[in-house]
Amino acid sequence: MLLRKTTLSRSCVACVLMCVLVFYLIIYQQLPDHSSMQVHNRNHVGQPESLTRFEGPLTKDNLAERLSIIIREFENFDNALSETVRSIWESLGKVPVFIIADDLPYPPVPLNMNSEARMITLSGDLTRNYSSTCPMHFFQTQYVLIIPDATKILDWKQVQNLVLFLHTQKHTKAVAVPVGNAELSCQDLNVDMKHWSLSLNGNHSQATFYCPLVKGSHGLLMKTETFKSLAEPFARPFPFTFYVQASLKNWKVRITKSGRFDVLSQLYEEPHSHWKHKQAETKRLRTFYGKIGIKQETLASGFSNFYGCSKDTSRCFGTVINDMPEYLYLGRWTPPCCLKALRETAQHVFSVLDLCQVRYWLEGGSLLGAARHHDIIPWDYDVDIGIYKVDVEKCLTLSRATKERYIDEQLFVWETAVEGDFYRVQYSETNHLHVDIFPFYSRNGTMTKDTWFGTHRQDTEFPERFLQPLTKIKFAGTMASAPNNVTEFLEYKFGKGVIDKPKYPNFQNPL
Ligand code: ZN
Ligand code: MG
Repeated sequence: MLLRKTTLSRSCVACVLMCVLVFYLIIYQQLPDHSSMQVHNRNHVGQPESLTRFEGPLTKDNLAERLSIIIREFENFDNALSETVRSIWESLGKVPVFIIADDLPYPPVPLNMNSEARMITLSGDLTRNYSSTCPMHFFQTQYVLIIPDATKILDWKQVQNLVLFLHTQKHTKAVAVPVGNAELSCQDLNVDMKHWSLSLNGNHSQATFYCPLVKGSHGLLMKTETFKSLAEPFARPFPFTFYVQASLKNWKVRITKSGRFDVLSQLYEEPHSHWKHKQAETKRLRTFYGKIGIKQETLASGFSNFYGCSKDTSRCFGTVINDMPEYLYLGRWTPPCCLKALRETAQHVFSVLDLCQVRYWLEGGSLLGAARHHDIIPWDYDVDIGIYKVDVEKCLTLSRATKERYIDEQLFVWETAVEGDFYRVQYSETNHLHVDIFPFYSRNGTMTKDTWFGTHRQDTEFPERFLQPLTKIKFAGTMASAPNNVTEFLEYKFGKGVIDKPKYPNFQNPL
């Protein structure tokens, strides 16, 4: 009996196993391409099948299958592209060379066009298909070497050494090799997307062996897959745009310890050509910053260049809906140019109000920023102040704004806000960054006004004693007028502990 039972359960197990097997077989047949899956299984290190053909050392003979040369930086008006391509083939054999141009160069570049040299233009040409304007499509080799125009590579051994260096140095994503007599140096590079800013902080310490930003003319060798994983591989000026992206990805770049490429000829020697090249570089940098949203560039000297909005351009962000400016959705804070323009507007408004002795004080978020760190809250989008309504008559600028929109001598725009009975001072007619001025009046010792913003907790009445007397507080690069007992005033409006516990912006709860 016991024996029978075991045989029965055994045949049951066998039956179940059979079923499972058949089931898997059916599933397997349904899979789109099981031959490639087999290849994948055999190749367990996670290397895609397409790369297996790159096994073994780099040799002179397989160089053309392993390496592509890319030339991205050149000028239409002064280049040595034809000579560069010819020289590459002389020293390396017929490796694929790609010249990536913004537009079809004019005057035309005489290239002996064949499958090993391609001119790829990035600008749309509606007579061609999409992939022909998409260079990534063409890079089939294991490595890419991106060189400046007029670079002379001496022999294939130079490339071999670079590849060796790339592989022997831990965590190295790219290797830089000097071109001509350039002395390469390292600079610190800090890219801060949240603050729309980038800083170049002088020479990089020699204690680390990698380089955040290589200065001086150089070529860059990297794996093609590295290059392909960039969001903006062809952005100019190259390789600066590469280092900005590498910094965000925390990639390490090293300078080769030996080896140097030569130059075929000196470009941009003639003054006018030099000037044109510099102009073009500046324009490209501006375009790149615009595209990725860098609005402040701080140089090693500490001097800042602003690339964002100005009096002549519109504000960097659109109309604010539900107290949530669009930059917060991008995970970024107020653009530096906007903070700068807001500070300028605030300083201007304070000086006008001081001059005509209008009693004003910082309100809401602006006072909160002043209490926290003497400046506008880094994710705020305007400046708010309160004034005594009776004082409006004392100030021609304000009383005029009651009747009409008024542009003052420094091009700030004074007007009555469309949203209600308060004043708004805009940075300019085009740029609508602004200071809001809310007129309050005293009713039996309570400061009040006629319209309120339902969404703003801090928009409330308050005891007049906070304004008797007014005090001064450091704000936005100047001394601004403020209520007395700032902490008490802010806690009265926002709640206890508001100064020390910033509510960081998020999608639900911006301020
Ligand atoms: Zn701006
Ligand atoms: Mg505000």
